[in-house]
Amino acid sequence: MKNCEPPEIIRKTLALAESWQNRANTLRNKDELKQQQMMRRLLNHPSDKTVVMHLVDQSFRSTNPQRVVDQFSYLLQHHGIPHFFPQVEQWLLKIFLYLGKFVPKISHTQILRRIREDTRRTILPEETEILTAHLKKRQAEGVQVNLNHLGEAVLGDAEAQNRLKHYGDSLRNPDIHTISIKISNIVAQLHPLGFENELDLICERLSELYRIAGENPVLQSDGTRRAKFVNLDMESYHDLDLTMDAFMRTLDQVEFKNIQAGIVLQAYLPDSFLRQQELVKWAKKRVKNGGSPVKMRLVKGANLVMEAVEAEVFGWPLTVFDSKIETDANFKRMLEYGLQPENIAVVHFGLASHNLFDLAYTHVLAEERGISDGLVFEMLEGMADHVRRTLQEEKRKGESKEINLLLYTPVTSQDQFISAIAYLVRRLDENTSKDNFLRHSFDIRVGSVAWKFLEKQC
Ligand SMILES: Cc1cc2nc3c(=O)[nH]c(=O)nc-3n(C[C@H](O)[C@H](O)[C@H](O)COP(=O)(O)OP(=O)(O)OC[C@H]3O[C@@H](n4cnc5c(N)ncnc54)[C@H](O)[C@@H]3O)c2cc1C
Repeated sequence: MKNCEPPEIIRKTLALAESWQNRANTLRNKDELKQQQMMRRLLNHPSDKTVVMHLVDQSFRSTNPQRVVDQFSYLLQHHGIPHFFPQVEQWLLKIFLYLGKFVPKISHTQILRRIREDTRRTILPEETEILTAHLKKRQAEGVQVNLNHLGEAVLGDAEAQNRLKHYGDSLRNPDIHTISIKISNIVAQLHPLGFENELDLICERLSELYRIAGENPVLQSDGTRRAKFVNLDMESYHDLDLTMDAFMRTLDQVEFKNIQAGIVLQAYLPDSFLRQQELVKWAKKRVKNGGSPVKMRLVKGANLVMEAVEAEVFGWPLTVFDSKIETDANFKRMLEYGLQPENIAVVHFGLASHNLFDLAYTHVLAEERGISDGLVFEMLEGMADHVRRTLQEEKRKGESKEINLLLYTPVTSQDQFISAIAYLVRRLDENTSKDNFLRHSFDIRVGSVAWKFLEKQC
């Protein structure tokens, strides 16, 4: 096998990935270069990751400035000042260690302001003026935005109702066209053992959102109007069947026949391919009966550690694949199936990845199959913006099929910044796990050892 030439599609994929990477490297701006240097320092000092996780996790738990400052000082004294901070910030932290406790209110405000500022590229402030300006900027760049109000599973019904109202308000905002939600955000304390009861409540609340989405359509460039888009993100295996069933059952109602909603499936779950086939089968019937296509976003899965811990603690079988290579293989299998013309016609396809090889493979495969509609590339705001800009150039060249881009954009308000913790930890983990593309991508060069390592996974 070693001497065999790779198939044509792989050769094309590798060539495209190389050209995109070379171009992306020239597109990095000053901020991105600064971030690249920080990541390099973080990766050179693995213990910094632990310190950052502690700092992020523990700095927002209390609203009492004295308590926050105490904890922040304790962590810095205990672990030392992380090396990845730029020199100036290291000095500021040293000053903080001496003086912070004497002026807790000022220190508290400064810590929060700084953390919010430093994470602003990935988590946008939800305050109206800033958010509207950002949405308009992206619109002018030809990039669609999928807004995600950050927040983890809610504990009580009052909070679930609050979230529901908040999502409804977003859908009424003319500048917001697409939102992502999770079922654990709209129904508290979900448990698959009460499957039917849970399902009824999720469907009821989801119906409320789809209804608002339909009542507040977006005016498109061709003069037609389409309902706002609500996407169901996937979190844990625990919620897979509930999310799937709620999605299909809600959309089965006649009033939602023409709503184009979306759902996410995670390739690291062996069960997901079966679910994808069920979804396609159901969508074929829906479209045959005069309904609209739906959409599926394919991701690899962001909660690997949580799934592993849960399995370990409860002595359950592991819900995810054992290795990245198996996840990657399932991802390709689901991609291949999703891009079959008769399938993408009824289940539009969102390819969500920052792995340049997967992005390139999808593009090549779609071109080979002549797919021009229903495919969108999805990336996270602030994670690999130079790559996003590279993909957009492909669109402008006009030589190949258009690349539709959707940027997943987490937002949170200043007083809700605690909701950002889990998201930040997931991104930090993804950026630093040894097999992951992003771990190597910060200063990657085509042909380097890291490039060859990642190429082999392709
Ligand atoms: C727009 C967008 C939306 C997203 N929405 C969701 C969502 O709703 N739900 C969600 O869970 N995630 C979501 N994600 C995150 C996504 O699941 C991936 O974690 C992330 O994008 C990394 O995958 P990759 O293809 O970019 O990179 P790669 O580096 O190619 O892959 C990394 C991924 O491989 C898998 N992996 C790594 N090591 C192992 C191992 N030892 N065993 C098994 N698998 C392994 C993990 O899933 C890991 O995240 C989203 C990502 C994007 C870009």
